[in-house]
Amino acid sequence: MAKRVFNFNAGPATLPVPVLERARDEMLDWAGTGMSVMEVSHRGKEYDAMHHEAMSLVKELMGWTDEYKVLWLQGGASMQFLMVPQNLAVPGKPMEYVNTGAWSKKAIKEAKLFGDVKVVASSEDKNFTFVPKDVSFSEGSAFAHMTGNNTIYGSEWHYYPKVPSDVPLVVDMSSNLMDKVIEAKRFALLYAGVQKNLGPAGVTLAVIRQDLLTRVPEKAPTMLKYITHSAEDSLYNTPPCWAIYICKLVLDYMKEKGGVAYFERVNREKAKVLYDAIDSSGGFYKGHITDKDSRSLMNVTFRLPTEDLEKQIIDEAKKAGLVGLKGHRSVGGMRASIYNAVPMEGVKKLVELMKDFQAKHQ
Ligand SMILES: *Cc1c(COP(=O)(O)O)cnc(C)c1O
Repeated sequence: MAKRVFNFNAGPATLPVPVLERARDEMLDWAGTGMSVMEVSHRGKEYDAMHHEAMSLVKELMGWTDEYKVLWLQGGASMQFLMVPQNLAVPGKPMEYVNTGAWSKKAIKEAKLFGDVKVVASSEDKNFTFVPKDVSFSEGSAFAHMTGNNTIYGSEWHYYPKVPSDVPLVVDMSSNLMDKVIEAKRFALLYAGVQKNLGPAGVTLAVIRQDLLTRVPEKAPTMLKYITHSAEDSLYNTPPCWAIYICKLVLDYMKEKGGVAYFERVNREKAKVLYDAIDSSGGFYKGHITDKDSRSLMNVTFRLPTEDLEKQIIDEAKKAGLVGLKGHRSVGGMRASIYNAVPMEGVKKLVELMKDFQAKHQ
C-alpha cells in the first residue's frame, strides 16, 4: 500500500482513493481497447460512450432536466470569466455581479471588457469576511453573476438570492460544485474548474440552460461560443479525454456512495467538527469569516495568535501527514480545504493536532 497523506490542498486537490486505484488498474488496457484512455481516438465508440455517460451523470446527480446542456470546456474557470459576458451580454443592459472575493473580482474585470457592469453587493470593504445579505438584482439586467464559494477567503453562499424571472443566474461553482444539494432549475448557467471538487485540472464543467445558447453575438470567435460546444456535445475539437475520464470515475463513485445528498451530509459533519474546534479554542484559533452563516463547507480559514505559531503548526501537521494547510497569502494563517474526497478521519486528525498544539503553546 502506497503511503498516502491527508491532503487539504485548495486545488488541485485530493481525489477519492478508489478512483485513483481504478485509474491505475485501467491504465494499460482501458475498456478492452488495449490502450489507456489517453491513447484512444476521441471519435471512437469507447471514448464516445464514456464521454456521454459522464455528461448524463452530471445531470442525474444534480437533477438537471433536458432543458440543460452539460459542456466540457477548456481554459479553466478563468476562461469562463470572459466566455460568460462574451456569450450573455446584451447591449444596453447592465451585467450584475456580486463581489465576494478574489475570483469574483477577476470575473468582474473580464466582464468590463464586454459592457456595463454593475456590482450590486460586495464584502470587499470588510476583507471578504462574509457574504452579503439581502442581495437584489435588477429586472432587465443581462444576467446576474455570483461566486458560489470563495475558495481563498472561506465563505460560501448557503442560499442563492432570488433573481427576477427574466434574469439568468450564473454561478461560479469551482470550489463548491456538488458539495450540497441545490435546486438545479434556479441556475441558468453554472461553471466550475473541476480540479477542486470533481477531478483533475484540465477540464471545466459548464451546465447551461439551452435557451441561452443563441444569445451570443454572431461575430464571437467559434471556440468561445457555448453553442459551438453544445452542438457537438463538447467534441468540436479534441476534448481533454483523461480529465473527463477521471471526472467520470468520480461521478460513478459519488453515485455509488449515495449521490450529492450523501456528500452534503458528510461535508456538514466534517465542517462542524472543524468549526467547533475553532469556536471552542477560546480565541486561540480565529476564523477569518466573522459571519457564521457565511462559513464555507469546503474551505475553512483561520489564524493563530502569531505568524510564528502558524508556521510551526503547519510544519508539525506536515510531519504528521497532514499537508496543504497553509492559508492563501491574502488571508494568511491556515486554510483546510475539506472537499468531498477529504475523509472525516483526516479532519479528526487535524482537530486532534490543533488541540495538542494549543495545549502546548497557549
Ligand atoms: C480556483 C478557482 C477559479 C479558477 O479556476 P481555474 O480553473 O484555475 O481558472 C475560479 N473560481 C473559483 C471560485 C475558484 O476556486
